[in-house]
Amino acid sequence: MLLLTLASHSSLQILHGAKREGFETGIVVSTKRESFYRRFSFIDNFYVYSDEDQAVDKINSTSNSVFVPHGSLIEYIGMERVSRIRTPIFGNRNLFPWESNQTKKMKLLELSNIKTPMKFESPEDVDRMVIVKLPGAKGGRGYFIARNKQEVKEGIKRLLEKRLINNVEDLIIQEYVVGIPMYFQFFYSPVLQRVEMTGIDIRYESNVDGLRRLPSDLRVEPTFVVAGNIPAVARESILPSVYEYAENFVRTTRNIVPPGAIGPFCLESVVTDTLDVVVFEFSGRIVAGTNLYVDGSPYSWLYWDEPMSVGRRIGREINLALQKNRLNEVTT
Ligand code: AMP
Repeated sequence: MLLLTLASHSSLQILHGAKREGFETGIVVSTKRESFYRRFSFIDNFYVYSDEDQAVDKINSTSNSVFVPHGSLIEYIGMERVSRIRTPIFGNRNLFPWESNQTKKMKLLELSNIKTPMKFESPEDVDRMVIVKLPGAKGGRGYFIARNKQEVKEGIKRLLEKRLINNVEDLIIQEYVVGIPMYFQFFYSPVLQRVEMTGIDIRYESNVDGLRRLPSDLRVEPTFVVAGNIPAVARESILPSVYEYAENFVRTTRNIVPPGAIGPFCLESVVTDTLDVVVFEFSGRIVAGTNLYVDGSPYSWLYWDEPMSVGRRIGREINLALQKNRLNEVTT
C-alpha cells in the first residue's frame, strides 16, 4: 500500500515514518520544491504538479493508497480542491470545514468542557487585553495585541489599510491569556480505542519570543509569526486535566462531526500561573511541532518502547487497521 502526502509542513516525518512501517511512500510536490525532496531516500514516488488542480488530479491518479493530510493542506490547495480528493484520507475529512471556521472551532472546544479564552463579538465590547487574529492558518501573520477597545479599532484600521483583511467580521477578538504557551499533541486510535499523548511543544514565534533579549524600556509591539518549535514537557500534575480535555474532545467530535477525531490532533493552550490550561485553538491534524520528535518524544516512549514519531504512529495505525480489516474506521 502507498502512503501519500503533500510536500511541506510535516511531510518528511510522515513519509519517514510510513517507510519505517513498511509502506511504499509518495509525495505530491510542486515543480519548485521537487529538487529539495529528491534528497531523501525514503520517498519512493514523486507526483510533481505545476498548479493546485493538477495536485488533486495526481492524488486521485494513485490506487491502493491513503492520503495523509497535515496542517498546511488547506492553506496550500484550498478547501474546494481538498473536497475533490477521492483517495481515502487518513483521519476525518468532515472536520476540515470546522477547523477552517473559528466560531465552529471554538464551539467544539466549549462543547467538550474545555476552558477557552473569552471571545468579543465587536471591538466595542472589549474590556481587557485582547489578541486580534486574522482568519485561516496564516502562521500568526498580522495578529496584534490591544490593551483596550481604542487600540483594537486602531489596529483594525491598519489591517484594512494594508488590505490584510476585507471584512472586520472576519477577525477574531480573544481575551489575551497571560501565561506560557504549551501545545499538547495527542493521537486518538480507533483501533486501540485510546488517546495517547505524543508530545508537547512550544511555538517559536517572531518577534514575541525575541523581546526578552531587548532592554525592557524599549517598546516594541509583539508579533506572532511562527518560525519554529521548541520541545517541552509538562509538570506531571497538569497531565490528568489535559488528558480529560483530549478524551472529551474525542467524544464530542464523535457526536457532532462523525466519525470524530481520528489520529493526531493538538490542543493549543496557555498555562496560567494557577496551572489552568486555557485552550485557544485546536488542530485536527498533525501539527508541525511533532517534527521535533522524529525518534519519539518523552511521552510516546511511555506507550511504545521504540522510536515512534507521529508520522510513524499514523503508519502503525493503518497497519493495525489493515490487520483487522478495519481500514474504513481510520480513513474517510
Ligand atoms: P494561533 O494562530 O491562534 O495559534 O495563535 C498564534 C499565537 O498567538 C500563539 O502561539 C500564542 O503565542 C498567541 N495566542 C493566541 N491566542 C492567544 C490567547 N488567547 N492568549 C494568549 N496568547 C495567544
